[in-house]
Amino acid sequence: MSLAFATTAQNTFTFNTKTAEIVLLSEGQRVSNINNLIGLTPQIIAETAPENSVPGATNAFLIRTAGGKNVLVDTGHGRELFNNLKSVGVSPDKIDALLITHLHGDHINGLVKDGTRAFVNAKLYLSKKEYDSAGENALKILGFYSSDLILFEPGEESPDNLYEDIRSMACYGHTPGHTIFIIDNLVIWGDLIHAMAVQMPYPGVAITYDSDPKMAVESRLKMLEYIVNNQLYSAGMHLPYPAIGRVKSNGKNGYIFTPVE
Ligand SMILES: [Zn+2]
Repeated sequence: MSLAFATTAQNTFTFNTKTAEIVLLSEGQRVSNINNLIGLTPQIIAETAPENSVPGATNAFLIRTAGGKNVLVDTGHGRELFNNLKSVGVSPDKIDALLITHLHGDHINGLVKDGTRAFVNAKLYLSKKEYDSAGENALKILGFYSSDLILFEPGEESPDNLYEDIRSMACYGHTPGHTIFIIDNLVIWGDLIHAMAVQMPYPGVAITYDSDPKMAVESRLKMLEYIVNNQLYSAGMHLPYPAIGRVKSNGKNGYIFTPVE
């Protein structure tokens, strides 16, 4: 089992795009087994996860925009989130907007702290399709934000302007309304990839958490191609530290991820 990620990782990391500061806010590193992956072959396992496990993490990202806005993309479990925000000098009441990729608990539980709304001054942006699929836990959490909830339709073929300089794009399949966000040349891709070591070289591998595994694979292939064609940086909610890097084709229908320094 590789501990390289856990021993060197920190919970925050800052990356600058042309106009914005992006801050990784990690709930921590983890090693996951591969039992939930769909479409593995003995050859893929031998090549990418010989110990039947892969490194991962649970992350949210803070965007500090050129316009002086503090934007949170997802909120993680909400265990380390508030310590992380404190360590970078942003108090929860200074968050102006919340952009939510999808409604799984590891992305939205941090919207609530001590049984109450954690971000009292923030608008909450969520795709209309995702809202329509909300389950009991999500509806309860979203209820705290009902007066500040903004439902939108993300761009389908190209990104649509959403908030400040941030754009949105549909990436459906992991959940019915899963949405990615783009600022400058950085994509924050939510759960486009869960098990990086496996799904980067073999993006056709799905995971049982996908509400529609086939659509999730199609969206992943389309988005990875878009990222490579547009030479974008990528940040992901389950990528190990520092969770931001470059994607390149590996020349064999798969991809290679290179973390930023
Ligand atoms: Zn997730």
